[in-house]
Amino acid sequence: MPKELLQRNREWAANQDPSFFEELTDGQSPRFLWISCSDSRVPANEIVECHPGDLFVHRNIANRIDHDDLNGLSVLEYAVEVLQVPHIVVCGHYQCGGVKAAMEHTDHGLIDNWLRPIKRCYHQHHDELNTIPDEQERWNRLCELNVIDQVEGIASTTVVQKAWQRGQDVTVHGWIYQLSEGIIHNLEVEVDSPDQVPAIYRLNATSSVSGDA
Ligand code: ZN
Repeated sequence: MPKELLQRNREWAANQDPSFFEELTDGQSPRFLWISCSDSRVPANEIVECHPGDLFVHRNIANRIDHDDLNGLSVLEYAVEVLQVPHIVVCGHYQCGGVKAAMEHTDHGLIDNWLRPIKRCYHQHHDELNTIPDEQERWNRLCELNVIDQVEGIASTTVVQKAWQRGQDVTVHGWIYQLSEGIIHNLEVEVDSPDQVPAIYRLNATSSVSGDA
């Protein structure tokens, strides 16, 4: 019941050192922008044992930030330009219902529009995915590919490109959480420089983009 949540909040607050809250009122200086799924099983702070103030968090279904997403881009811009976070972590999770819905051919309502970029991701990796006969494995591989797609997409945003142009250190990481064991796996797809981004997305790229994708 909602009342229980309020009661638990009182108990939690009573168990903290009062100086903890005083420090937080001075402002925030998190070192991580954490992008993950809205799924109730993948809480941001808990799975990496972080305290309030440690993570700047953005969550939505299937952990996406696309280039027409004013909400996500605003979070990204604030995190990079104002909070100056050095690390952006996209942490997806296996068995993501949003990713599963994107694999299906049924009508889920409005969400199909939100998930549409995942269909594009599937299509881009069609050859690999269709060699995986087991549907669960194929689903989980698409969960990974969706994270990798996000890392590439975030690195190509004007926000991150401008940060690198200013000489600001920003690294985008791709991780995925295994629900069944509580472990986060590093997908080893770190992007920390414009050289790792296709030329067409680079800001003030010195080289010609022709023939360089
Ligand atoms: Zn999910």
